[in-house]
Amino acid sequence: MSNFSNLIPALFRKEVLAMSAYHVANASGLIKLDAMENPYTWPDDVRASWLETLKTCELNRYPDPEAKLLTQTIRQRNNIPPAFDVLLGNGSDELIQILLMALPPTARVMSTQPSFVMYQQISQSLGLSFINIPLLPGSFELDLPTMLGAIADHQPAIIFLAYPNNPTGNLFSAEAINKIIAAANGLVVIDEAYAPFADASYMGELARHENLLVMRTVSKLGLAGLRLGYLVGAPAILEQLNKIRLPYNINILTQVTARFALTHHALFDEQTQLICAERTRVYEHLCNMPGITAYPSAANFILFKTPKDKATDIFAAIRQRGVLIKNLSPQGGLLIDCLRVTIGKPEENRAFIAALKSCLD
Ligand code: PMP
Repeated sequence: MSNFSNLIPALFRKEVLAMSAYHVANASGLIKLDAMENPYTWPDDVRASWLETLKTCELNRYPDPEAKLLTQTIRQRNNIPPAFDVLLGNGSDELIQILLMALPPTARVMSTQPSFVMYQQISQSLGLSFINIPLLPGSFELDLPTMLGAIADHQPAIIFLAYPNNPTGNLFSAEAINKIIAAANGLVVIDEAYAPFADASYMGELARHENLLVMRTVSKLGLAGLRLGYLVGAPAILEQLNKIRLPYNINILTQVTARFALTHHALFDEQTQLICAERTRVYEHLCNMPGITAYPSAANFILFKTPKDKATDIFAAIRQRGVLIKNLSPQGGLLIDCLRVTIGKPEENRAFIAALKSCLD
């Protein structure tokens, strides 16, 4: 048995052997501003009525494999036209995985650099070629000529565009996105994970482009613990993807809780407004700090650049003062010297600002 580990390299694909697992920082005892979660919980009366609805769950039975009631609620909340289908995932992470698992092994996948790391991580785990096109320095806007050239050269089966983009926080130019959708032979997935904080969406554009898919999640809205994402697009495309989906991927507690939560949307709307108001306040503080460059954000986080070669020290000093943010500098490229802070409650944001200020003094 002790020699079994010698066999591991022969057992698994080389891409898997070469990967590192997705690392999640330990936040215990720290103010958690690293993962774009909503900092607010529910008032006691809402929590009590949610617990009442959970009593109806039959945990001995498999959940509805199509989550029909939840899908109906999602359709109503997002005004999804009847001509389009909705596919649910265990987080939008799972939808990204489903999309990529459906591709032939020779397919190419394209996104921007930087963007959400799971597009590349999952592509690599499946042995798919992944093409990263750097964003323009400073503005983090799409480099349209380079993207159009790469689309012509590589004919990607899927292009992922996060809108707003993680970790830069900006909304790409709609004109550039439209040109990319028009030039693509394959699918274009507009990942609207941060839609609650942005006044923009491609949901209304679905009817204009047959290769367009719009993906959303309830995670950033305030339900990260549920793991629920949804993909909206043409039935002919989703029909194929649905074959890859595991039958009971949305558990019964998620189905019931998400329905409950989406029917109490006024609560989330209020929380979203608080977060957006705090985003403005934190951004202004960052802009007034010597040596810091803050980038405007349409999401619930802000990317900022620290003085040269100082990001890792500043990140550690902020953590030492009890606040966990995200150090992006090790990712390199446009993210060198960059840190990202998620917008929390006012007192959490104040603690972050005070900690950062004291590092710069
Ligand atoms: N897309 C983007 C752009 C994200 O930033 C994230 C989470 N960081 C996700 C998707 C994944 O969200 P979920 O929690 O639904 O898996």
